[in-house]
Amino acid sequence: MTDVGTLLMADHLYQLHQAAKAQGSGFSMVIFDTQYLPRLFATRRGPYLQQSVPFMKGRPWVRHDEHYHVDFTIPCQPQRPAEVKP
Ligand SMILES: [Zn+2]
Repeated sequence: MTDVGTLLMADHLYQLHQAAKAQGSGFSMVIFDTQYLPRLFATRRGPYLQQSVPFMKGRPWVRHDEHYHVDFTIPCQPQRPAEVKP
C-alpha cells in the first residue's frame, strides 16, 4: 500500500503537468529524489508520470528528499522595444 503523501505528490505532478500542457507549456525537468521514484511510479499516476515527465537522471547538486523541483518549458515572448522617455 502506498502512503498518502506519495499519492498526493503523484497526483500533484499529474495535475501540474496537465495544467502546464493546457497553457501550451510543459515540464523541461523534474527533480525528485530517485530513491522515492519507485513509490511514485507504483501509484495510479505512475505510468503517466513515467511516460510524460522528464525526471532528472543522476544525482542533483542539492538534496531533494524534502522537496521536489519542477522546471517548466515556457516559450519566450519577443521583447518590446525600450520605452523612450522625453
Ligand atoms: Zn530543488
